[in-house]
Amino acid sequence: MEWQDLPWSKQLAMGLETPAALLRFVGLSPDNFDTQQAHQAFKTRVPHSFAARIQKNNPYDPLLKQVLALDSEMQDAPGYHNDPLKEQAEANPIPGVLHKYQGRLLLMLSGSCAINCRYCFRRHFPYHENRLSPHHLGAALAYIQKESALSEIILSGGDPLMLKDTLLSPILKALEEISHIKRVRIHTRLPVVLPARITPELIQLLSPTRLHTVMVLHINHAQECNDELAQALLPLKHAGIPLLNQSVLLKGVNDTLEALVTLSERLFEMGVLPYYLHLLDQVKGAQGFEVPQDQAKTLYHGLQTALPGYLVPKCVREVPGVLHKVGMFA
Ligand code: SF4
Repeated sequence: MEWQDLPWSKQLAMGLETPAALLRFVGLSPDNFDTQQAHQAFKTRVPHSFAARIQKNNPYDPLLKQVLALDSEMQDAPGYHNDPLKEQAEANPIPGVLHKYQGRLLLMLSGSCAINCRYCFRRHFPYHENRLSPHHLGAALAYIQKESALSEIILSGGDPLMLKDTLLSPILKALEEISHIKRVRIHTRLPVVLPARITPELIQLLSPTRLHTVMVLHINHAQECNDELAQALLPLKHAGIPLLNQSVLLKGVNDTLEALVTLSERLFEMGVLPYYLHLLDQVKGAQGFEVPQDQAKTLYHGLQTALPGYLVPKCVREVPGVLHKVGMFA
């Protein structure tokens, strides 16, 4: 049976898990790339569905660049740290909980993702210390209950949709019973890289109840937006779930005006509104993705000129200790 015909959990299990397998899949020779040290430090993981969107025989493909481990990641770079946003140091009161914004709290439901993005700002995060065992989940829910100023829970990770529906369902129900919680926001890349994850059961689970559900996807380049993804998003849209997108500005991926304009337009065609364009968080290993600030500013002003306001994502940066994202280049 081909991977396309398998349920999402099987597709997930048979993803490409070495740089050599990924390179061969896209028609490139593993002999031409140094990958092993970087792969050991942060494992390769790419579903076939995403790999199939990479242009064959193109070492500069913008999707390949996001996921191919390269040993140049291992070089030290000034200003780059394991915990660039000081999340572990300042915002992690109990396992599985990040409380860094007013009125909102991140619940980290999973320490893993369907894809490992080389620029990920949590690539060094100690997920093993934040695993939500039943005991820790109970403590996290008690924390949320006690913090009456909270109105929104952000399901994050890792990727929260790595959880099977049978595990996700009781968590959503428990949140619904906490009267001061009004919204659940799901930050996920899973539907993008593995559209089969959007099942009728998941849509049923996320359909608005007392709680409003918002889904924030993570797409960096229009080439990620194929027909399979567009079709998979339709039922979410029809279920009344607002779909937003956040991107990271990445050198060699989307650092041209054309790439950013095309991404916004393609998102809109799929019923997704551009929400955030993040400047890169300075995490160790991601230095090869940095776009100089002057170039970022020029690109953003170009985007504001080229597109109507509703297609221009907010350009933001996270600053440790600041209780909200910091707007850039307004
Ligand atoms: S999907 Fe998100 S959390 Fe997971 S590796 Fe990629 S950027 Fe990091």
